[in-house]
Amino acid sequence: MSSNNFDPATLEAMRCRLPEYLTARGVELRRQGNRLVGKCPHHDDTSPSFAVFPNGKNCGCYPCGFTGDVFSVSQWLGRSDSFTSAVADVASVLGVYLPSGTAQGQPRAPQEPPRPERKPEVPFSLSPGDRERIRFARWEFSNILHGGGPLLGEIAESLSLPAEALRHAAFGECGLGFAEGWLCYAYPNGLKLRNRNPERKPRFRWIVGKATAPWRMEWALRPEVRTIYLAEGESDCMALIAAGLESDGTAACVASPGKDFSQSWAPMFAGRKVVLCFDSDPPGMTAAVRVAGLLAGHSASVSNWKGARP
Ligand SMILES: [Zn+2]
Repeated sequence: MSSNNFDPATLEAMRCRLPEYLTARGVELRRQGNRLVGKCPHHDDTSPSFAVFPNGKNCGCYPCGFTGDVFSVSQWLGRSDSFTSAVADVASVLGVYLPSGTAQGQPRAPQEPPRPERKPEVPFSLSPGDRERIRFARWEFSNILHGGGPLLGEIAESLSLPAEALRHAAFGECGLGFAEGWLCYAYPNGLKLRNRNPERKPRFRWIVGKATAPWRMEWALRPEVRTIYLAEGESDCMALIAAGLESDGTAACVASPGKDFSQSWAPMFAGRKVVLCFDSDPPGMTAAVRVAGLLAGHSASVSNWKGARP
């Protein structure tokens, strides 16, 4: 049975009832600006990290690196293990009638062919040791940024940026500092080293984990943010901050870790005006076209800031 057996309008109506589904599944939500937020049902959450995005149809947890619609959430919560069974689960929770011949009442029908292209979204997880390593690095980086030692000046000089911009850029679980003799960026679920010498290969190396969201996305998810500047890397992002783009309080600068912008991140930009600040070289333009395509239907508008490399 394929998803084509379901009426697209019925599926869309179910997607729009995501908050109702979450509440029924025990996720308490409260309004914060144009989003609904709540404690993440998937990790030990002290602050409300889980949010339903302004479009009302997608949600995500920033530390878990999860984003998805009501059918993805059903699988993420372990209530179903395929798209078909997720439709049945959501329909039963919301009291939606599905005509016979579709999945209702037979979520794991034996005749169902395997659907490898719709694997349940598994939250990204780190070993306790890796998590500890990231936590320690973040603490060390905070000391570098706020401790007044000479290392901050050295890092600022290597990036040709004012130290104040670096201090402003570090937010929440995203920071920067020095590790293994290299410039290092902290992400919520990873540490990314940048070679100090731009001529040396490789330019970047993940020593722990990976990017599960753009760098500084947590900052951009604040309700007052209307415009998001998406840079192609962390140093470009900090250059945008140094240029004053965040000064009016309604804009936020975030970084795609290079050209690897994941499709699953697009719903995080829901309702926001997005300005792509990618390099004006051919790979940068190709990446900009790809990302603009992914953001269409999520963000309020997407524009390209040609030649924006500061
Ligand atoms: Zn979570």
